[in-house]
Amino acid sequence: MTKDISYILNLLGEETGPSPDAVTPPLYQTSNFAFRDVNALRNALQDEYAHTLYTRGNNPTIDLLRKKLAALDGAGDALVVSSGVAAIFLAVFSNLKAGDHVLCVSDPYSWTAHMFRELLPRFGVTTTFVDGSVESFEEAARPETRIIFLESPNTLTFGLQDLDATAGFAKTRGLLTIADNSYCTPLNQRPLDHGIDLAVQTATKYVGGHSDTLAGVISGSRSLIRKIFESDFLNTGATLSPFNAWLLLRSLRTLHLRVRRSGETALALAKKFESHKKVNKLLYPFLPSFPQAALAAKQMKGPGGLFTMVLAAGDAGAIERFCTSLRRFKLAVSWGGHESLVFPVVATLPEGEFDPGNEKHRMVRFYAGLEDPDVLAEDIEQGLGAL
Ligand SMILES: *Cc1c(COP(=O)(O)O)cnc(C)c1O
Repeated sequence: MTKDISYILNLLGEETGPSPDAVTPPLYQTSNFAFRDVNALRNALQDEYAHTLYTRGNNPTIDLLRKKLAALDGAGDALVVSSGVAAIFLAVFSNLKAGDHVLCVSDPYSWTAHMFRELLPRFGVTTTFVDGSVESFEEAARPETRIIFLESPNTLTFGLQDLDATAGFAKTRGLLTIADNSYCTPLNQRPLDHGIDLAVQTATKYVGGHSDTLAGVISGSRSLIRKIFESDFLNTGATLSPFNAWLLLRSLRTLHLRVRRSGETALALAKKFESHKKVNKLLYPFLPSFPQAALAAKQMKGPGGLFTMVLAAGDAGAIERFCTSLRRFKLAVSWGGHESLVFPVVATLPEGEFDPGNEKHRMVRFYAGLEDPDVLAEDIEQGLGAL
């Protein structure tokens, strides 16, 4: 059978099992596996990647999830771990040694930035942050550079990197490319198809989709995944619990429907409020006004559920009142669940540091969940009216 999306989400890896007629896969809530003889145990100990020995390595419920996520990414294999940041950490850390240098796109996810700025320097690894254009990578590359880390788009201003061009440059220098693909999911962008070596994503957001599970995914060739598995994955113990893997298998059944609904609603809201008089600017990759709209259309298959408004507000209090006046958008971090969310940059500023002249300080990020789009639009309308 061909690996169309419906096949992957509904059937792949589920043809056999203890009860092949069951329409839901079994949950192997076990930490341990027993062996028939010493030779079988010896074989498993010698190659844990290829055997089911202990759940910190492999587990049948987690393996089924890995198969489906690898197929979605067009990858040889995938690892699922206990959070998105664990996926990012393992993909990066497993491929570095003291003295190495990393090129990272500026303003990545906050804990990605923290890892490169605070954690890796303790182990002798340095990072240069660049704007993400191919020229910026060319200019900053050094003989000791090992990794190019991308996040396309990011989840506040949606800055994109050209995946084909960056992968092409990296190959000429023998650099490993890693892309955080959380915003798009493999449904809207497959980094490996563009020549990127490792795709990482949080599965806490869209893949889980119900705001009840943390998880992360690393996809790549079998040799790159084996390398991560055999060293740092087993040693950090960042395994996902079988129960959470089972929840994610449940979530995958509706992934395509949820991603499409959230993206369509966000696009409609972005179009509706782009020229509202209380909105100075609206950032969204699928609006014609977006500076990198052509690149988004080239490498992304569909719109995502996040967009950012730069509000016409003279003080932090006005933005704070706007956020709390919303009735359908909950005030919170994260995104990708069923519930619509709002997150203002002022929440990241120490009190009194708000600068009305700084565009970033006036940014408010929205996530469009699965509610009725008209109800969400009405809510934003009344909130802006009160601004
Ligand atoms: C949330 C997020 C992460 C981290 O994922 P967790 O599952 O919360 O650890 C990484 N990258 C991006 C872009 C995210 O939005």
